[in-house]
Amino acid sequence: MRRKGVVVKFLSNMAIVQDYETGEKFLCKLRGKFKEQKIRPIVGDIVEYRIIVKKEGVIENIYNRKNELLRPRIANVDQVIVVTTLKSPETPLGILDRYLVLVENANLPAVIVLNKVDLLTDDEIKNFVDIYGDIYDVIITSAKTGYGIEELKKILKGKIATMAGMSGVGKSSLLNAINPGLSLKVNEISQKLDRGRHTTTVIELLYFDFGGWIADTPGFANLDISSIKPENLKKLFPEFRRFSCLFLDCNHIHEPNCGVKEAVEDGKIKSSRYNSYIDMYKELTEGK
Ligand code: GDP
Ligand code: ZN
Repeated sequence: MRRKGVVVKFLSNMAIVQDYETGEKFLCKLRGKFKEQKIRPIVGDIVEYRIIVKKEGVIENIYNRKNELLRPRIANVDQVIVVTTLKSPETPLGILDRYLVLVENANLPAVIVLNKVDLLTDDEIKNFVDIYGDIYDVIITSAKTGYGIEELKKILKGKIATMAGMSGVGKSSLLNAINPGLSLKVNEISQKLDRGRHTTTVIELLYFDFGGWIADTPGFANLDISSIKPENLKKLFPEFRRFSCLFLDCNHIHEPNCGVKEAVEDGKIKSSRYNSYIDMYKELTEGK
């Protein structure tokens, strides 16, 4: 009988497939035909598999991928959970905006988690939600007190997610609050050292006991935006699309009758977001 599962990890040439319904894991061989067709399943692939003996099986088919993230290499990512803080560490909004741009550029939905709200006043939280709440789903959490953890679980249930966010914002702590025992490989220092080299870190999708998967390695860790074309940057700020300009190809910098700049003046686009845009635009056009 053929069953449906998700590839959660590789062990040399075998894949660990987790059953979609039962969560049971099977060590699966890949059919020879994959080699001939030059396709190879990757973590996150949804597959048809058949049990051969006990806990072993064979992958028969790979379903079409709806997307493929490159770092870490995972198929079928439903969402990226971008974790940030305002205190301890004081993460600049510009850093959060950079993560959001990278997620938009990968064409994936972003969910913002503002963690460590036990350290913030109501006004500080409200101010943050005022900036981001109209553009993205924002979840307010404290891994320390448990605040917001149920809401985060609801968002994660039944989906494949990756986490992103600076070191120290509480990614591991959140995972442990969501599902005790799960922890993230927060190897950001070694990831930085390995930047540019081809690393063969084994990624694994971790399974929540309430259903759903999360990658054990944070995404977008190098914050590298250099592959984005300057004229495409504006498309990665979803709220800019609500306004129109005199010039269709307006970059919202010095052009006359720019709807985006007017919206910033009217407070319809938050100035911190526009400033992040300008900073990144300058970075991408410097020396060109
Ligand atoms: P990661 O590097 O993003 O995985 O961050 P960690 O989960 O390792 O957390 C970094 C530090 O922040 C640890 O000392 C945690 O105990 C602490 N921490 C995590 N979440 C919270 C929170 O909601 N409130 C407070 N006050 N501290 C937290
Ligand atoms: Zn404009």
